[in-house]
Amino acid sequence: MPNNIAMKERLAIPRVHMPELDAAERSANFAEVNRGLTMAEAVMEAKRCIQCKHRPCVDGCPVGVSIPEFLDALAREDLPASARILQGDNALPAVCGRVCPQETQCEAKCVRGLKGDSVAIGYLERFVADWAMANPSRIAAGKVPQASGRKVAVVGAGPAGLTAAGELARAGHDVTVFEALHDTGGVLRYGIPEFRLPKDIIDVEVSRLTELGVTIECNVIIGKTLTLEQLRADFDAVFIANGAGLPVMLDIPGENLKGVYSANEFLTRVNLMEAGRNPSATTPIIRGRNVTVIGGGNTAMDCVRTARRLGAERAMIVYRRSEAEMPARVEEIKHAKEEGVEFVMLTAPLEIVADSNGWSSHLRCRRMELGPADESGRRKPVPVEGSEFDLPADVVVNAIGTRANPLLTATAPDLELNRWGNITVDDSGATNLPGVFAGGDMVRGGATVILAMGDGKRGAAAINSYLNC
Ligand SMILES: Cc1cc2nc3c(=O)[nH]c(=O)nc-3n(C[C@H](O)[C@H](O)[C@H](O)COP(=O)(O)OP(=O)(O)OC[C@H]3O[C@@H](n4cnc5c(N)ncnc54)[C@H](O)[C@@H]3O)c2cc1C
Repeated sequence: MPNNIAMKERLAIPRVHMPELDAAERSANFAEVNRGLTMAEAVMEAKRCIQCKHRPCVDGCPVGVSIPEFLDALAREDLPASARILQGDNALPAVCGRVCPQETQCEAKCVRGLKGDSVAIGYLERFVADWAMANPSRIAAGKVPQASGRKVAVVGAGPAGLTAAGELARAGHDVTVFEALHDTGGVLRYGIPEFRLPKDIIDVEVSRLTELGVTIECNVIIGKTLTLEQLRADFDAVFIANGAGLPVMLDIPGENLKGVYSANEFLTRVNLMEAGRNPSATTPIIRGRNVTVIGGGNTAMDCVRTARRLGAERAMIVYRRSEAEMPARVEEIKHAKEEGVEFVMLTAPLEIVADSNGWSSHLRCRRMELGPADESGRRKPVPVEGSEFDLPADVVVNAIGTRANPLLTATAPDLELNRWGNITVDDSGATNLPGVFAGGDMVRGGATVILAMGDGKRGAAAINSYLNC
């Protein structure tokens, strides 16, 4: 069907709304909150794209998805073509359609946004990717690449490692991914909760890679089970993408009390080990009545919304700046508020106070006010003297950030790191060691899924050049 709708008509179509589960219902379960568009809604939304010449949306996408092309095919109701374009550019489109901050990337650059609402590119990416998952037989299989005879090792099965693995397999290399945990996905599986990103979506996206011939070996910690030197000896090139999973500590009294978790531990227990939501799961979690989560990013939102679903009567975000400075996605903040999460803003934690049995009982806090901007450009929080107060907290979750995990690098003394322990790379993703490349959060510090994937693509291209492909 031709996409020959007149410009005037395109401009008159209002932006589609994403249907959501009712807030009261969803805050008691882990079902996915965003329900997805119907075919009619998606096709209508795709028609809002004016197919402008300059394609700024593509520049806004770190993996360079051919957005106007996949939208045009969708507007023409040619779903197989739309899916082929999307999958060709993006190894994890159903993931990105759910968790990417499109509002600050492709959609922020959309020309429709200059005088109204940008095209809902993220919702449409999700729609096409989900259609492709439901209709695999309608998408023609890609060409089987000619084997290059080269072996490449990838460390870490998060978005950066999985993207690199897919690109390298498509170039004909024999690729093995080594993953420390017992399952794939990295933060996608152990960090981001089911209500934002169902695990079966990750399973299907990963299975596309294994169908391409990628071997995935779980339960292998590079730096313990095997060293980087062993990988360099056994493989022609190595791509390191082991993330930034080491929690930054709060450094306040009471941090070691019972009932105090890092965000990583809290989310991993619930997401990966199914604690608290599967009666036969063997890894327990404390279901707090009053839960305080310290931090203002996506991780903090995921923790507090998870705590609510585990039954917290009061689930509270404690953040030292104001809501305007919160780094979490606007949609996450909106959803958290609808689910009854309390936002205790301009508040810094001072101490976690114990009950007589050594369990967390209260979070002692101090009010803050905003001073001049700091080096990040955000206004700096300044303590208000004499403003101390207590919040009830039988569970405290520290979600203030993470750093590079030192397990691999501690046993690779020749690998160059920056002062925060992140691997240093050049513009192509090459480290100082020949044949060793790196990307994702291990290089950038905690960033985003799509930036990690962009690094995976860039690293794979650099490995291809290194191997003279
Ligand atoms: C709770 C949470 C929510 C988030 N929400 C969003 C969001 O909504 N949108 C968004 O864009 N970004 C979000 N992010 C950030 C995003 O998930 C990360 O930037 C991204 O996952 C980084 O990808 P990566 O592949 O570099 O690392 P990771 O996803 O961390 O994957 C690294 C993998 O390497 C493995 N590994 C570590 N050490 C070793 C070793 N020594 N040997 C072998 N394997 C190892 C790890 O087990 C892991 O599987 C969120 C982050 C968190 C923590």
